[in-house]
Amino acid sequence: MNFALSEEQEAFLSVVRRWVDAECPKAWMRELEAREEDYPFALWDKLKEQGFFGIGIPEEFGGLGGDVVTQMLFARELSRTAGGLLWTWGLTSFGGAKTITAVGSDEQKARWLPAMAAGDLRVSLSMTEPDGGTDVLGAMKTFADRVEGGWRLNGAKMWTTGARVADRLLVLARSDRNAAKKHHGLSLFFVDAKSPGVTATLLRKLGMRAMGSCEVHYDNVFVPDEDVLGEPGQAWQAILPSLNNERIMVGAQCLGAIDGVLEDALDYMKQRKAFGGIIGRFQVLQHYVADIATAQKMTELLLYHVAQLQALGRPCGTEANMLKMFATENAVKAADLGIQILGGMGYSAETDMQRYWRDHRILRMTPISNEMVRNTIAESLGLPRSF
Ligand SMILES: Cc1cc2nc3c(=O)[nH]c(=O)nc-3n(C[C@H](O)[C@H](O)[C@H](O)COP(=O)(O)OP(=O)(O)OC[C@H]3O[C@@H](n4cnc5c(N)ncnc54)[C@H](O)[C@@H]3O)c2cc1C
Repeated sequence: MNFALSEEQEAFLSVVRRWVDAECPKAWMRELEAREEDYPFALWDKLKEQGFFGIGIPEEFGGLGGDVVTQMLFARELSRTAGGLLWTWGLTSFGGAKTITAVGSDEQKARWLPAMAAGDLRVSLSMTEPDGGTDVLGAMKTFADRVEGGWRLNGAKMWTTGARVADRLLVLARSDRNAAKKHHGLSLFFVDAKSPGVTATLLRKLGMRAMGSCEVHYDNVFVPDEDVLGEPGQAWQAILPSLNNERIMVGAQCLGAIDGVLEDALDYMKQRKAFGGIIGRFQVLQHYVADIATAQKMTELLLYHVAQLQALGRPCGTEANMLKMFATENAVKAADLGIQILGGMGYSAETDMQRYWRDHRILRMTPISNEMVRNTIAESLGLPRSF
């Protein structure tokens, strides 16, 4: 039982921590997040300049070849100040690149991964539809029909984050109208976002505002064969193995948020005064930070455990689900206590507690809802499917 980081991982962590503190302070993140109409290009450019988009991309395609533990360390540190703006990095470098690496042909990897590693190609993930995200396959009505040289896509997607500024949209669609089961006959398309027939409309929302989540319509969009990822009809089976990584990344984001909350809560308790002394002397507030620190430690242990299992190639589906549920709920509870500790200032747009709460509240619903996660954990204990 040893979750200690290697010397190389410690060195990477300290470089990232110093860079985040110097280049991505919380006050700047707060200002970027609030601008709902403006994608945080300034953050993108800094990440690009530092080469961080290449972290998880194999070295042969211009990346740094970092494993899931390295990516998890980076995500935790950036999220400590960036919160939900972590996905400026994550959608492309993590979600997009992981899928191309897992499913793409050699030619597709060579065509796209170097550009993604260099920060020259932005990706959005377009899976959820207006009729539902939990039963994503039951609700899926986006169809791809075979035409000369490719496919024609028709349908609508909900909540495609970053769609208005994406170069490529990773779209899951039905490509076989006669498939017997709902997880059969699905294909993955890496759609050029400038294709005629693609329109993205911004959806107003509670948190991670600047990330720009959109409703996207695909009206007769032509996708050439060379932009289909993997075997047509086999997409669901192809993307299932990437789900553990996704849960680990959400866990890392939430742990970073708890780190940020704890830092700010302690700072405030040491300088804010009431009844003739600092508020940090009140036992009830001390109990709140004790709870936050305990949640931080428990989330860290579970995150490191799951990331290590994943890095070793050991099965960890149930543990990854437990992590997703536990980390998201801890992050929201920590931010809620943080708001309470800061009093009125915790509710103010001038501090970060409200942003941590807003940005992480969504993670109890996405990429999979915690109710569905609990269903899956219960099933792994031998109970019958409840839905
Ligand atoms: C800010 C934001 C960003 C997002 N970004 C993206 C993105 O980039 N790309 C993308 O494709 N999607 C994205 N999503 C979509 C997200 O993944 C879905 O919102 C999520 O999967 C939940 O789907 P839903 O909203 O349709 O809720 P529904 O599926 O309608 O669920 C409603 C409620 O019913 C519960 N429920 C449903 N089925 C069951 C069941 N069997 N048992 C128990 N409870 C159940 C759910 O847990 C939930 O509480 C984003 C969403 C948001 C809000």
